[in-house]
Amino acid sequence: MSTFVPASRVSRIKVSPSTAAAARARELKAAGRDIVDMTVGEPDFDTPDHVKAAAHAAIDRGETKYTAVNGTPSLRKAIINNFERRLGLRYGDNEICVGGGAKQILFLALMASVENDAEVIIPAPYWVSYPDMVIANEGKPIIVQCPQEQGFKLTPEALEAAITPKTMWLILNAPSNPTGAAYSRDELHELGKVLLRHPEIMILSDDIYDQVWFKDEPMTTLVAAVPELKDRVLLTNGVSKSYAMTGWRIGYGAGPAPLIAAINKLQSQMSSCPSSVSQAAAAHALASDQGFVTDSVKVYKERRDYACRRLNAVPDLSCLVPDGAFYLFPNCAGVIGRRTPEGKVIETDLDFVLYLLDGVGVAALQGAAYGLSPYFRLSIATSMDAITEACDRIERAVGELR
Ligand code: PMP
Repeated sequence: MSTFVPASRVSRIKVSPSTAAAARARELKAAGRDIVDMTVGEPDFDTPDHVKAAAHAAIDRGETKYTAVNGTPSLRKAIINNFERRLGLRYGDNEICVGGGAKQILFLALMASVENDAEVIIPAPYWVSYPDMVIANEGKPIIVQCPQEQGFKLTPEALEAAITPKTMWLILNAPSNPTGAAYSRDELHELGKVLLRHPEIMILSDDIYDQVWFKDEPMTTLVAAVPELKDRVLLTNGVSKSYAMTGWRIGYGAGPAPLIAAINKLQSQMSSCPSSVSQAAAAHALASDQGFVTDSVKVYKERRDYACRRLNAVPDLSCLVPDGAFYLFPNCAGVIGRRTPEGKVIETDLDFVLYLLDGVGVAALQGAAYGLSPYFRLSIATSMDAITEACDRIERAVGELR
């Protein structure tokens, strides 16, 4: 038996719960159970063919070697142009970094900056990885509850109250995983006023879902709404969600040059660079025809409308309509305290998702994993048939509670 003992930074953190739940759903499926999996956090679409072709072409041209640590010139150019075209933001070449997914950029940004229990404000509900990323890098997550009455959004008052002399970062993620909530320009201005009063605080703006956007008015982001903050914001994004490219592992960041240099220095010792072939594919995805984005968002929107209507018709459930991303975060307060047909009392949202999984074969994730209860997260990055079946089953499961 191995006597290996992991370093304390490993024992302090947990495996991403979304991965664990998806694995459990897969296990049950493999064991022959009929499971509708609503946990998956990636597009159900295939990567567009023209993007795949760009990768093949890169291989044929021999682009199969290490690239510059901060990415190929053509990817950096595509990122810079994309920011300018979509958001009117101008970044210089030394203000861009690329990595193996936005996740890696976020991790490296924290690794490059956080130490000695520096505080990182994380509005809840949050993407499951933020607190553990902060803890792994010797920081202290400061969780700020953002209830449904506030549209699951951080208010200027709650932000002000959470700030201490140890605050180093605020993480904003919009449209959010898990709620799909996003900030209006006015709301960003109000948050910006607080941040301008505290010039030492940096802001991590995780915009990975910004193109999965359902509203008529254009999506905006903190740097675009409050340009005075540009030197203090690290904007992170990637091709995973918008272009159905999760497995290609390309993410990027745009921010102040000294932070980008620190991230690149770490990257030079960690992975040298992300895959050259994936970089060529990502550069093409960002610079070429954006029809895939428009078409897929239309499909997500139809699914969102259908699923919200169905869930809001179930007594004891209610669901805010998300502005973007591909998740729903329904409230399940109405089922807490009720009994399953087997006589088990549902005490938490975890009990409820386990009841859904074991009772009717719907795999969902408990709100507790995202820092807000009692809720559950459903991904709509799955077929309309699966969504219809899941809604039927959830309706039946809730109907059978006593
Ligand atoms: N941020 C959020 C909010 C996410 O949901 C995800 C993916 N689940 C990521 C970042 C990371 O995306 P990737 O590493 O694939 O670019």
